[in-house]
Amino acid sequence: MAEPLARTAGTPVARTTACTLDCPDSCSLSVHRDANGRLVVEAAAHDGLTDGFICSKVRRIERHLSSPERLSRPLRRVGPKGSDDPAGFEEIGWDEALDLIAERMRSASERSGGEAILPLSYGGSNGLLTQDTTDALLFSRLGASRLQRTVCAAPSTAATSGLYGKMAGVALEDYVHSELIVVWGANPSATGIHLVPKIRRAQENGARLVVVDPRRIPLAKQADLVLQPLPGTDLALALCVIRELWRRGHADESFLERYTSGAEELRQRADEWTLDRAAATCGVAANSIDRLVELYAASSPAVIRCGWGPERNRNGASAIAAIVALPAVAGKFGVRGGGYTMSNTGVWRDAGLRDFTAGWNARQINQNHVGRALLELDDPPIEVLFVYNHNPLMTLPEQERVRRGLLREDLFTVVFDPVMTDTARYADLVLPATTFLEHEDVARGYGQMVIHRTRPVIPVHGESRSNVDLFAELVRRLGLERPGDPLDETSARRALLGETDRSEGPEGLAQRFERRDRIEPSVGTTPIQFVDAFPLTSSGRVELCAEALDRAHPRGLYRFLENPAATEEHPLTLISPASRHRISSTFGQLDRSLARIGLHPDDAAARGLDGRPDERVRVFNRLGEVICGVRIDADLRPGVAELQKGLWSHHTANGRTSNALVPDHLSDVAGGACFNDARVEVEAV
Ligand code: SF4
Repeated sequence: MAEPLARTAGTPVARTTACTLDCPDSCSLSVHRDANGRLVVEAAAHDGLTDGFICSKVRRIERHLSSPERLSRPLRRVGPKGSDDPAGFEEIGWDEALDLIAERMRSASERSGGEAILPLSYGGSNGLLTQDTTDALLFSRLGASRLQRTVCAAPSTAATSGLYGKMAGVALEDYVHSELIVVWGANPSATGIHLVPKIRRAQENGARLVVVDPRRIPLAKQADLVLQPLPGTDLALALCVIRELWRRGHADESFLERYTSGAEELRQRADEWTLDRAAATCGVAANSIDRLVELYAASSPAVIRCGWGPERNRNGASAIAAIVALPAVAGKFGVRGGGYTMSNTGVWRDAGLRDFTAGWNARQINQNHVGRALLELDDPPIEVLFVYNHNPLMTLPEQERVRRGLLREDLFTVVFDPVMTDTARYADLVLPATTFLEHEDVARGYGQMVIHRTRPVIPVHGESRSNVDLFAELVRRLGLERPGDPLDETSARRALLGETDRSEGPEGLAQRFERRDRIEPSVGTTPIQFVDAFPLTSSGRVELCAEALDRAHPRGLYRFLENPAATEEHPLTLISPASRHRISSTFGQLDRSLARIGLHPDDAAARGLDGRPDERVRVFNRLGEVICGVRIDADLRPGVAELQKGLWSHHTANGRTSNALVPDHLSDVAGGACFNDARVEVEAV
């Protein structure tokens, strides 16, 4: 446990750690208190990617650490579920809380089997110890139902794994070497902010920038070409570019012959996407697609930064597969700054990190169907729900269904979180969790290619406990402990890393971690694709029409599935992108201003809306409604409405957020969420 940081008048004595939040950048942090006792969190000097700055979310994290919603002690519900009356909970001791949980888990398990228990966790912390370590020991030994974490990145992971076996991507640091940068479905000004100065530097060196996004994101203002496809049509756009590369003789046949399989299949499936058809489907000008084709073909090094926007729809996996297939078709690999970047966690694939979930062969529940699972499963029904690193009521599709599930009086719900979330108000027990500044962890970003050891740098708040500690205690109380179990943070860290990558000598990662707080993968932190990093598929080739993806797809990979069309009743496509305030629902308690739906000026005028501060609108479809403010946004394309990601109930007048309007149907492959398939209408109230 960390001692309090001393106030410092002269040179501050700082402690170093790293950020484990859901963000590609995984910043190294330096933490100290200034002479006024204020917590100062800033970029650590030795971090190569951060360029000496971090985001405002973490720079101002003291607001989160000491917010009125911060939990200090375990609470037991004494009022109705879902009430926001603070008197609805009473404090209890940890012993009593843990006994109660153990008793409810034991009785549910004996009565209905372990699958009556559902652990529900997601990206509240991406620390490698806060998810899938002692929690996995507990729930796998109970035989609990297993959550398929599909709400984000499932389609893109399936697609990139299928084509490349999660080959390391172009390092964000290497974008400065690129001649052409295509930012496709990502907004680095809000998430993964350290890419922005790299792009600027590349542009100073003469690089050109293309932005593909339904919104004119901030980077679009300095771009050479901007395409604003309708949400859900990125597949058509990427296939059209592929078709045109082949048709115009820009495909790199020798690369395709030597390093890929399935090229002919891809070519045939792309062939139907003529410029005119793609332009009509995507709602972009044909000459813009033409310019993209020519720019991409003519530039080297050319890199594509593929974000997670294109996966959030019915064609999600195919769209990502088609986008990351582009550098293979055009032969853009083999040079520094050329290729693609998606998630870079694949660089650790062969490092042999221990999988604590191995052997957990229980019923699987898709995260997008949690509402259905709570309401409809009966073999057995979910009797105990354990929520951690997650605020599912605010983040999952079909919010009303999730809410009705949480309202079940016969459901025993535990929420373990640093703050009182909207979901926690439906819990029977609420337990205080430490933040990443208060416990030991292992941070692995999905952009920067390093693993950091993180240390507690401030004292634990109140009686909060770390994830490792809480679940270890439950393992013991339920009599599930086995000899050698790693039931504290240090032994969990060593177990996670212990038998790992010895490619640099006899030491494993755990031993290297004892000496250094930051370790690099065996390919280094800036590998060049097809020089240092190669496909990790079973064939060793880029499998452009990967069989597993092709089989999993209802019509075959790359076959366009018609998205729910705009109707007269619900003509607007609703998107809910991250902002610089929130990548997820974390920090949602800090800002209490009324959310305002963004509308293009033409869409606003057609509805008689002018965006004045007191204007209120109803955003609705057959699933529900959201009452909020409105703002006019000329950076949106007509027909697209935007409501921010990560909103809490206090951000709208009726306590509902964009997910109240999002259907829970699944993407083409991997069961991903289809947030951008929501169609809505907006009217003044
Ligand atoms: S959220 Fe991202 S940018 Fe902010 S400190 Fe963490 S890793 Fe860095």
